[in-house]
Amino acid sequence: MGTTEHVVIVGGGTAGWLTAARLGAMANRQFDITLVESPSVPTVGVGEGTWPSMKATLQAIGLSERVLISECDASLKQGTLFHGWRTGAADDSYLHPFSLPPEYASKNIAEYWRRDGLRYPFHEVVTPQALIATTHKAPKTADTPDYAFALNYGYHVDAVKFAALLRQHSVSRFGVRHIEGHVAGVSSDSAGFLTSLELEGGDRLSGDFFVDCSGQKALLIGDHFKVPFESARHVLPNNRAVVAQVPYNEPNDEIHSCTQSSAQDCGWIWDIGLQSRRGVGYVHNADFISEAEATQTLRNYAEQSVGAKVAQDLACRTLNFEPGYRGTPWTHNCVAVGLSAGFIEPLEASALAMIEQAASFLVESFPVNRDLMGPASRAFNRKMESNWASIQEFLKLHYVLSDRDDTPYWQQACDETSISEGLSDKLALWQIRAPWHPDTPRIDELFPAASYQYVWLGMNGHLNGVIGSAGQGGKDHASSSADLDPILFKVRERALQLSRAMPGNRQLLNALRMNNPSATVTA
Ligand SMILES: Cc1cc2nc3c(=O)[nH]c(=O)nc-3n(C[C@H](O)[C@H](O)[C@H](O)COP(=O)(O)OP(=O)(O)OC[C@H]3O[C@@H](n4cnc5c(N)ncnc54)[C@H](O)[C@@H]3O)c2cc1C
Repeated sequence: MGTTEHVVIVGGGTAGWLTAARLGAMANRQFDITLVESPSVPTVGVGEGTWPSMKATLQAIGLSERVLISECDASLKQGTLFHGWRTGAADDSYLHPFSLPPEYASKNIAEYWRRDGLRYPFHEVVTPQALIATTHKAPKTADTPDYAFALNYGYHVDAVKFAALLRQHSVSRFGVRHIEGHVAGVSSDSAGFLTSLELEGGDRLSGDFFVDCSGQKALLIGDHFKVPFESARHVLPNNRAVVAQVPYNEPNDEIHSCTQSSAQDCGWIWDIGLQSRRGVGYVHNADFISEAEATQTLRNYAEQSVGAKVAQDLACRTLNFEPGYRGTPWTHNCVAVGLSAGFIEPLEASALAMIEQAASFLVESFPVNRDLMGPASRAFNRKMESNWASIQEFLKLHYVLSDRDDTPYWQQACDETSISEGLSDKLALWQIRAPWHPDTPRIDELFPAASYQYVWLGMNGHLNGVIGSAGQGGKDHASSSADLDPILFKVRERALQLSRAMPGNRQLLNALRMNNPSATVTA
């Protein structure tokens, strides 16, 4: 029956070490784990924005939040603030926060905006997080236990330090064997199942189950198994990023509580605040802008906050990527996790969340023997296929509602012929009801209906040809605004209360660093 006694992970980036830690922390684990990483192939070194799901992932591996904050330059992220996506005007911005609107389980608050064509910003009034996050305040106080919160949050982390912390934790806590070696060859049996890897220098590494976390190289899933790559360029064409690290002007400068995402002529720039520096990157479509122009655009952006001298001296790095994914990331006894499985632009920082979901699946449905590889792989592949479809739909939503047509890039990005049937159906249905739970029927959906509400209303989708809205006599099937006022009043009260109680983001991080147990806690 072929019991799974030895798991071999190829690649020591965030995907490899996160998977190693999750498997290592499995209760009653009856297999060994070896992670091999090449000394000559660097990790991608980006991936600084996470989702709130990372809290549960870190808890599952017994890693203290204070250690994360101390070791990884981490800060707390409360959502993404989008600038210039609708019209490009100076006052054009909206927030996609991590907190849900009030009474979310049973009441579709977004419906008031759709029905009445409300123009005041949805995000600003349906969650206290808008006030807290946009005033650089923290979502918790220093007394709040690890991972608990007043307002939901994820993290901004230094990607290289994060992978290093996960490595140290996996090795010391779970006994994961770490080998530095460059995989140069692969052996398989007559049924096509992998049996061992050959390392440069001649060593051989045998295993029963292999996890391909080799990044864009996709050594096992691509080079060996030749699993087809499904390009997503026709939907989301961005395929290059120029990235840089920007110093703060003063050590005590405010730390943004959200990822900033600023639309540009040929893409968008992310801006992430860590404790000791910011991370910025210009994601763009290489068909419309040269690498040199993109680099200059990033420098110009940085110049606004740090001045010309610092901006022109920034060390900029270019990363090329083909947007897309492997249709069947798990084949035989090999599963691809991380960049080897695919990547689509980091507009909503979904890549680490995909790694978390993949690792969770492996923990919950670990193929303890070869007979289970087939059923487990089919279930995994279905789940990932569905996730990739959701990512494409949700990211595309950010573009298609834009009024921008000021550059060829925006004309192409908003082109309706690049919209999937699923998104097209949603947009049609939202003319008669706002985004709601039926749009996201799976219990483990990547993006909840609330996320669709924040982006759809943030982009003023409800003011665009909505059926039954204000002026078209559609009030009879929905509650009156008198119902809404007390709900929003409560949100406002809570926002003011939290605004008084919450420390500044940096203030909280300083306090947590000083109170770092410098040790990992029990899972
Ligand atoms: C521009 C950009 C921005 C991003 N921003 C975000 C974000 O904000 N949020 C988010 O969630 N994600 C983001 N991502 C994605 C995120 O960076 C990755 O999902 C994450 O870092 C995981 O990468 P990885 O471990 O799969 O690959 P890598 O970090 O590339 O690691 C690959 C590993 O494989 C090893 N390897 C390669 N070849 C061999 C070999 N022959 N033998 C042995 N080992 C080998 C390497 O040594 C390395 O250790 C971003 C990606 C890009 C490109």
